[in-house]
Parts: sequence; C-alpha cells; structure tokens
Amino acid sequence: MKPNDVKYCSNPACGMPLRKGRADLKFCDAKCRSANYQQLHKDTIDAEKALTKGNRINEKVLKQLFLRLPKSKQFPNYVDISLETLKGAGYNLQFFGMPKMAKWGNKDVQSYYYYKIILIAHPEQENRYLIASKNENT
Ligand SMILES: [Zn+2]
Repeated sequence: MKPNDVKYCSNPACGMPLRKGRADLKFCDAKCRSANYQQLHKDTIDAEKALTKGNRINEKVLKQLFLRLPKSKQFPNYVDISLETLKGAGYNLQFFGMPKMAKWGNKDVQSYYYYKIILIAHPEQENRYLIASKNENT
C-alpha cells in the first residue's frame, strides 16, 4: 500500500486515517460505525420517535376517556364519542396507531389499534367513534 492509499474513517464526524487492515474497513470502530448510521438515518429515527410519542399520547387520551366517560347504552363495552370531543381531549388525528379494518356484524369498519385501546369508527353514525379496551373485549 502506498502512503496515498490511506483510507479515512467514513464517519463524517471523525474522518481519522484508518489503521491498515481489512480492505473493506470503513470505520475506526463500532462507535464510528454506529455514529455514521445514526447520522444517515437521523430523519427516519426522529420521525419514528415522533410517531411513537404521538401514538403514546393518543393512547393515554383514549384510555382516560374510556375510564372517565359512561359506557354506551347501545354498545355497553364501548364509549361512544364524537370526533369533536376526541379532538378536544387532545387526540391527534395524525397518530392513528395501527389501522385495521374490523368486522362489525356484517359491516367492515375502520379501526385504529393502540397498545391496549382500540378506536373504532362508529358503524352507524358519521363523525362518531367507539373506544374499546383490549382487556375487556378480547
Ligand atoms: Zn472514526
């Protein structure tokens, strides 16, 4: 290897010359490899963190509503709630957990699954939702 064949660490925050070794060596060590990965995927990592946080807040809002509000007379295991009330309680429509279609009788209804709570589009009314706890319904 000639002197100008020296390779440098691919971590932009480091850039130190690499000790001679394997030809495919790109980083000084695992720390530089990891730092580079974090930097490259920063946007994705940040977006995932925001998503997780948003979903966690929504889950908390839904759980509080489920515990606080009276159950529906029509559907006794559920809290029947308007979109307005949901939003007013701090539910953020951007973080909809894991969306799934669910069977409601012979209908398909849009559902949003969180860790322990499910939000279901009301099968009969526009702009209304049903909140269910996974503990009580599975
Ligand atoms: Zn390095």
